[in-house]
Amino acid sequence: MQESLDDLSKKWEIPHEIYDLHMGKRDDLTEKIIQVGEVRFHIPFLEKSQLYVLWKCLWPDCHNCCERPIRLPMTEDDVELMTKKLGYKTKSDFIKNETNVITFDDKMNNDMLITHTMLSMKRKKDETKDDDGKKIPCRFLTSGSCGIHPDKPGVCWMYPFLPWRVPVDKWWKVEYHAKFVFTGDCPGFYLEKSLDPIMPTLQDYSKKIYDYLISCHRAERNNYISTSKIIKYRFLCDVKSAVDTNKK
Ligand code: SF4
Ligand code: SF4
Repeated sequence: MQESLDDLSKKWEIPHEIYDLHMGKRDDLTEKIIQVGEVRFHIPFLEKSQLYVLWKCLWPDCHNCCERPIRLPMTEDDVELMTKKLGYKTKSDFIKNETNVITFDDKMNNDMLITHTMLSMKRKKDETKDDDGKKIPCRFLTSGSCGIHPDKPGVCWMYPFLPWRVPVDKWWKVEYHAKFVFTGDCPGFYLEKSLDPIMPTLQDYSKKIYDYLISCHRAERNNYISTSKIIKYRFLCDVKSAVDTNKK
């Protein structure tokens, strides 16, 4: 993270509060939840300075997210779209030539470990599963723009938002949420006293995020994406430390 932030700081002015927030050094970080359309946005708020952390995209002056993506997960809709966009006759030809099946873990705040398995579009022609999680420039970024825009994977429209859905009360009632993901690669975060400047952006993203989450849900239902292995992270740590102790 620090390396990414220091790289970012060479070209962009990163307020020290935002640098510290990325590094997990703010003890006054809370959030305000604001509902826009179907989506509840979790906006970071720094209590001591009474400032919101907001975001605006600096494209075309910046294309860091295309120079440093860690993976490009595919929904079923993306596969359909990219098969046509890249000129493949069938979806299976696209999947065989242009994607890898990747598996990665997410450590959640509540000590849960979620293992995700999904298709990820190759960012370079010879990408292998071992490249997953590494920051690799996307091959579709040419002459400072996305060569397949606007027919690009849904995930490309999301950054730096991290969207998720939560079933509530009954299984048919669902809430849609989004928060910023702080990877250290986006110089678009800034501090502001009010939420007003970001409202047009949230209105724009609300529909995109909702559609993307619906698409992800469909992909999960049809086994394109799996989040089935959910285990207690703390349990895994306990097992690991027990194994380590027994080795001594
Ligand atoms: S890294 Fe951030 S500011 Fe730069 S193009 Fe991506 S979203 Fe926009
Ligand atoms: S497909 Fe386009 S938007 Fe997505 S990472 Fe590649 S260059 Fe960027």
